[in-house]
Amino acid sequence: MDQAEVLQRAREAGVQLVFFLYCDNGGIIRGKSTHISGLESRLNTGIGLTVAMQAMSDMDMLQSVEGMGPVGEIRLVPDPNTFTVLPYNPKRAVMLADMVRLDRSPWEACPRTFLKRMIARAADAGLTIQAAFEPEWTLAVKEGDSFVPCDDSLCFSSVGATTAQGVIDDLVSSLDAQGLQVEQYYPELGHGQQELTIRHSDALRAADNQILYRETVRNVAWQHGFYASFAPKPFADQAGNGCHIHFSAWDQAGERNLFFEPQDALNLSGIAYNFIGGVLEHLPGLVALTCPSVNSYRRLAPGSWSSAFVCYGPDNREAALRVPSLFWGDEMASSNLELKPSDSSANPYLALGGLIAAGLDGVDRGLQPAEGLRVDVDPATLSADQLAARGIQRLPSNLGEAIAALENDRVLLDALAPTLAGSYLAIRRADRDLFSNNDTAFELKHHFYKF
Ligand code: GLU
Ligand code: MG
Repeated sequence: MDQAEVLQRAREAGVQLVFFLYCDNGGIIRGKSTHISGLESRLNTGIGLTVAMQAMSDMDMLQSVEGMGPVGEIRLVPDPNTFTVLPYNPKRAVMLADMVRLDRSPWEACPRTFLKRMIARAADAGLTIQAAFEPEWTLAVKEGDSFVPCDDSLCFSSVGATTAQGVIDDLVSSLDAQGLQVEQYYPELGHGQQELTIRHSDALRAADNQILYRETVRNVAWQHGFYASFAPKPFADQAGNGCHIHFSAWDQAGERNLFFEPQDALNLSGIAYNFIGGVLEHLPGLVALTCPSVNSYRRLAPGSWSSAFVCYGPDNREAALRVPSLFWGDEMASSNLELKPSDSSANPYLALGGLIAAGLDGVDRGLQPAEGLRVDVDPATLSADQLAARGIQRLPSNLGEAIAALENDRVLLDALAPTLAGSYLAIRRADRDLFSNNDTAFELKHHFYKF
């Protein structure tokens, strides 16, 4: 879509406000809007934003980051291809924005630009990455000061599908109207927990879709009097909300899935094993991007089907990388890997960009996962000696450990480059410190309705 088409569609739809959205270092979706009368010029000039916003924590506490104080400005410049009139509020439209310096060059702290860079890197290696975020979330109501789940329904139970039907049916219409193709819906294990999946697409679109998805779910739920929580662990005694990332690498023409190799025992190609090798090697640091909040680590516990160990396995839902079984009759296209330690408190551009960087490092170095890392049982059932003998590490068990691993991961830090890495780590350290000085109730409260 070009700018002229955006204008025409916005005017025809009777849109009043167009929001230029971005996702920040804290995983928060933020943005500013222009009235339709200013849209034509704003499409070119963008909307100004203080450089300090990438140093703003997810508690709105400004962190001390060099070059990100009260002086300095960038522009939020919207991508015309992302223009979307909101079906749940047709007076509004959104566009996903890039952060651009005043000299019109990309700002080094822009997460969306980082993902574009990693996509270009993959293209240099002849690979087109396809991805899908698979979010779980919890429908809740507010009673006094507390959130409570909207029901106590069982896993995949039709009772749960009944209690949530108003929200879900409007949600499906809304997502369909935005071109996010709904694949499956079911009430998940936790009380009030839902899962509704969207078809994969190219990597940039997949990350943009995750922003549109979070917006749509939150708004539709709100219109029905519910709060939708994307917190990794909204209730300490209930199942966590994952946001697994499914991904595959295709040829440049987008015709052949390069992860698929029918001769292999797991139907995986050499490139797929290189990706597994790279992702597992970088996983302790990568989770600082894919599971970035303090609350993320309450979810990543053994026995939660969210993964807690650095290993992979066919249809193993306790392995960090699951190799999903193929669809009957659609074997080549359905071949993919699923990263389980990932949740919706992540900035999807950073999470997916980091995942691609880790996988490509595996491709560049021809890495193969060590034999012991293939696990066909629940890794939590292996003894400490067995885990050690096979080289299976526990994933970081708190945000502090994940931050330390990222601080030591040269490949991921180089991919992010200093401005983005520095500001990102500052935000993560702020969370680590703030929440370690407070109790569980404080943590749950301040993650529940934020993402
Ligand atoms: N809720 C689980 C998680 O936190 C995932 C359950 C499943 O879909 O296998 O990742
Ligand atoms: Mg699930």
